[in-house]
Order: sequence, then C-alpha cells, then structure tokens
Amino acid sequence: MPEKDIKVEVKLVEKQKKTLPELHQKLIERALEARELSYAPYSNFPVGAAVLLIDETVVIGNNQENAAYPSGLCAERTALFASRAQYPNQKVTALAVCVKESAKHVPFPCGGCLQVIAEVEQSQQAPITIFLIHNDRATVWEANSVKQLLPFAFGRNHLEA
Ligand SMILES: [Zn+2]
Repeated sequence: MPEKDIKVEVKLVEKQKKTLPELHQKLIERALEARELSYAPYSNFPVGAAVLLIDETVVIGNNQENAAYPSGLCAERTALFASRAQYPNQKVTALAVCVKESAKHVPFPCGGCLQVIAEVEQSQQAPITIFLIHNDRATVWEANSVKQLLPFAFGRNHLEA
C-alpha cells in the first residue's frame, strides 16, 4: 500500500499583543463574550464560539449542556448550526473558539465539531479560518482550514457507491 505524508499546520498568530486584523479581533471578542453566556452547570467548563460570515455578520454560540448528557451540544456546533439556520447562503469565513480561562491546553475542537466544520467547508467550497484562543487571549492560534485539524474528513464523496 502506498504511503502518503501529510503536513498540518497551526500557527501562533497572537502572543500577548493584539496583532490580528480588526475584523478577526472583533470575532475573538465575540467568542469571549459568548463564553460568558454558556450553559455548563455539569462540566463547569464554559466554551464560547463565534462564526464570521462573508458579509461580516457574526453569529455566536456556546456550550449547552443537559442533565441527559448526550442531549447537549458544543459551542462550535451551536454557532455553526445557528449561522446555517439563519444565513444559509452566507459563506462562513472564520470561526473563533475559546474555553474556560484557566484551561491548560489550546482548545482544539472535538471530533464531532471538526466533522461539522468540514461539512460546511465542503458545501461552501471555501476554507474556514479557525482561531483557537488560549488563556483568555494570552495566545491565539490559527488554522487556515479544518483540513489542518482533520485531514481525513468524511465527506459526501464517501457516500458514493
Ligand atoms: Zn465539539
């Protein structure tokens, strides 16, 4: 079986200083605000997300937990589904994600959220820039497409028989 090398890249784009373009800085602020509105009484791990559409509309989301655990939803998917429900014809250009202030690690989205981001990228045929906000913006990391985080995404082409 032939081998294939894959290179993925996530860049550090901000460290202590706000150096991103204004539009992306505002997106990050909205994700941080969204985190404050999360409903996370079980995990006590609030997550905020903000989606930027091509017309510069921002749609926020946050984790919504439930006593019946699987019935909850992550912040990224809450934001993406809300944006698709309200603005189905607007391409998503960026997604910002932040987690609890004291979290030790950079908030990479879970597998389920990556799959949903991949579906949006595939359907709109355009990449989504993903900003991962760590330590209340002490650092911001950027992936230029979900392909950097999920290089082998399942897609509609896999349903072809
Ligand atoms: Zn998730």
